[in-house]
Amino acid sequence: MLFYGWDISASKLFEGAVMLQYKVAIVGAGPAGYFAAQALHNLQNEERTFAIDMIERLPTPWGLVRSGVAPDHPKIKTVAKVFEKIAADPNFRLFANVEIGAEITVAQLAEKYDSVIIATGSSLGKKLGIPGEDLYGSMSAADFVPWYNAHPDFADLDVPLDCDTAVVIGAGNVAMDVARMLALEPSELDPTDTADHAIAAFKKSSVRDVYISARRGPEHAAFTSPELRELPKLEHTNVIMARSDIDAAIARAGDAPEKDVKSNLDAMLLIADSPKTEHERTMHFLFQHTPKEILGADRVEGIVYSTPSGDVTIKCGLVITAIGYQAASIDGVPYENGKVVNIDGRVKGNLYVVGWAKRGPSGVIGTNKSDAAAVIELLVADLESPKNAGDISELITSQRVIDQAAWQRINEAEVAAGEARGKPRVKSVKREKLLELARS
Ligand code: NAP
Repeated sequence: MLFYGWDISASKLFEGAVMLQYKVAIVGAGPAGYFAAQALHNLQNEERTFAIDMIERLPTPWGLVRSGVAPDHPKIKTVAKVFEKIAADPNFRLFANVEIGAEITVAQLAEKYDSVIIATGSSLGKKLGIPGEDLYGSMSAADFVPWYNAHPDFADLDVPLDCDTAVVIGAGNVAMDVARMLALEPSELDPTDTADHAIAAFKKSSVRDVYISARRGPEHAAFTSPELRELPKLEHTNVIMARSDIDAAIARAGDAPEKDVKSNLDAMLLIADSPKTEHERTMHFLFQHTPKEILGADRVEGIVYSTPSGDVTIKCGLVITAIGYQAASIDGVPYENGKVVNIDGRVKGNLYVVGWAKRGPSGVIGTNKSDAAAVIELLVADLESPKNAGDISELITSQRVIDQAAWQRINEAEVAAGEARGKPRVKSVKREKLLELARS
């Protein structure tokens, strides 16, 4: 492993002026981490620069842009170009395939670096806490989404698609992504970067009806209107929303609903009024359906909801919950309510947090830009003299670090494999394969 030296923390640039160089470690190479790096770059001046080391547990960076964003939404992924521009700065180094908390502790990083930023997101799915939730065939979007997005840790997830009906719980954009992936004609995924194993499984899937259920009315749904507006345009999927549900929601929302609510209700009216089609696959929306129990002996056989008109049972073989996320904890970092304990991004000492780990799982990718910029302003205000106490290269014992050049080899190999098959990329799934591409 070759490390480029950043031993000089203060160098004379020109007579009378001393350039201070601070070392900052960012743990997590997702959008929040990259936007934190960008905010640091933006605050460099004649007096100070930042040497940024971004550390990532997986062999690949980009976080949710690689393993969260739905593959049929390629435009959202173009933000990766911004990440690669940030990574091209000579003061930026990537240390992927390095886990913090196991081999190297947060406390060790905090000793060496002037500041340490936690940007590890929220990777654990929240639980419903109802009977039957642990049955085979009941799973979280936190597992299902990375499975279809080729995340190495979820490649072997067993997703039973041998049933005709699947239920998705939640009325947010993740639930919408999950329902769409289940209800699309699978050949529509051929030109996307969906994991090969997932496309193969979807092609064999028996699922034809997908229910997406909200526990409150349409006026409270967390979907955003662009996502709703694309549903009537699906070429091979019927989308069913009851006009009576939307009319009742409009009445409840009153004369002056908030702009987002109005925009959502308008989009829902368009769906409800869309001419009925006779596709083989159907996505049904249920409102005011609160999950009560998942039924089944050895595997999911149905779900019981309580509704304003009494209990309703839907027979199904797959239930996917998309009801929010919690942060996975790292030793040495305080957590409460699924988030890192922080005040405006300050955690303790020289430790900071950005993104979903800071504020919880809300907002789109771009939200992390302003969020990170605000935290970095505080971080910079807290800086004293550079510590010049070394960096992570002195802590790593494993030789399997993937640096920016190695990641670029993986990236180029995946894109080249994609070009040959009319896809943006073919993602490698197994860690060993990714490491092999990194070496090649
Ligand atoms: P979300 O937007 O917070 O939605 C979570 C949904 O789960 C809500 O409808 C909530 O209903 C429901 N819920 C929570 N607890 C429940 C329970 N016990 N039983 C039934 N329903 C329950 O979360 P998300 O969908 O995970 O999305 C996270 C963030 O990523 C959001 O900001 C989202 O917009 C963003 N995102 C954006 C895109 C995109 O731009 N295309 C794609 C994916 C995700 P209540 O309101 O009743 O609590």
